[in-house]
Amino acid sequence: MVNQDVSSKFRNLGHILSKKTLKPRLTVNEYASGILNGDRIILAKAISLVESNLQADREQASQLIEEIIDKAGQAIRIGITGVPGVGKSTFIEALGKHVTNQKKKIAVLTIDPSSQLTRGSILGDKTRMDELSKNELAFIRPSASGIALGGVSSSTREAMILCEAAGYEVIIIETVGVGQSEVTVKGMVDFFLLLMLAGAGDELQGIKKGIMEMADAVVITKADGDNVKHASEAQADYQQALHLLPPKASGWKPQVLTCSSFTKKGVPEVWDAILKFKHHTQASGFFTENRLNQQAIWLQEYFQRLLQVDFQRFAGLPVEMKYLQKMIIDKKMSVHEAGNKLLASYHAAIKHL
Ligand code: GDP
Repeated sequence: MVNQDVSSKFRNLGHILSKKTLKPRLTVNEYASGILNGDRIILAKAISLVESNLQADREQASQLIEEIIDKAGQAIRIGITGVPGVGKSTFIEALGKHVTNQKKKIAVLTIDPSSQLTRGSILGDKTRMDELSKNELAFIRPSASGIALGGVSSSTREAMILCEAAGYEVIIIETVGVGQSEVTVKGMVDFFLLLMLAGAGDELQGIKKGIMEMADAVVITKADGDNVKHASEAQADYQQALHLLPPKASGWKPQVLTCSSFTKKGVPEVWDAILKFKHHTQASGFFTENRLNQQAIWLQEYFQRLLQVDFQRFAGLPVEMKYLQKMIIDKKMSVHEAGNKLLASYHAAIKHL
């Protein structure tokens, strides 16, 4: 009890000892100057800070974002999706190599909805993108686990801003082609890339029409060896399918490309399509308009996260939530009744602050 009082007193002072690590906490200025100097260790620590839901960390994270936001925004932001096994990480390695050969810095962030559902991870294992992770122009950060998707998306946006301020010119946000996460990623990138396998069928790949509609380019992967012919057949099929979709607000005509991350054939063409898209949408004004609209979505996500963190502040509320969940399972209360009770308790707790 005494310890808690002491730590809450000192929480807002720059250098306090973190309870877990007993290492001195960095100040906002230390984070900011480390990031602006391109220090990868400080960048990684700052991403952990923006992912944290502790009240003290949220306050620092917020100050840090305010401090560096003017230095961010210069990168091209690319979303990449596709089912497990389609070749995402191998493709990102190949694209990363192509980009870093041009002396551009690339950061790869992942959103992995599986990690919060099952605590396992489809995307986050450490052996992925082995080569790229050793490249000093590349920064790879696996998905945060244990935060709800709303929290993940808001912290991924913040991680992206930190990477941009650290000088990364290409940001890749990778996700698996299942569930809600594509919409989330689409809402935070400039260019959305869908990777597909030849001949596997849309259903098998879990690809819904909606995802096709979101894509600025579809890339048929593994176009090498015996698969080259299948890949170009698939290319023609998808080209036709995309023709049937309504035109995009960006005015951009989505492209269908083939590529092999093994032979690297087609990889430069994907990069060229991304650059072409950037020029096209910058010239039309869509690029800026889209980013501003994305900031409006960011507010929604950020506010949801603020509410979540605020809710956790009142120790009794999560306990009450558990109790009400049990009441629902025991069929003693309806979901709406429990939800309204919880909201009333939250309002009461705020009143008594
Ligand atoms: P992810 O789950 O989407 O990230 O897919 P991976 O990048 O891990 O690739 C899945 C499998 O496909 C691995 O066995 C890769 O070696 C293989 N693969 C990836 N890219 C290519 C490619 O361009 N050509 C061929 N033939 N195989 C590939």
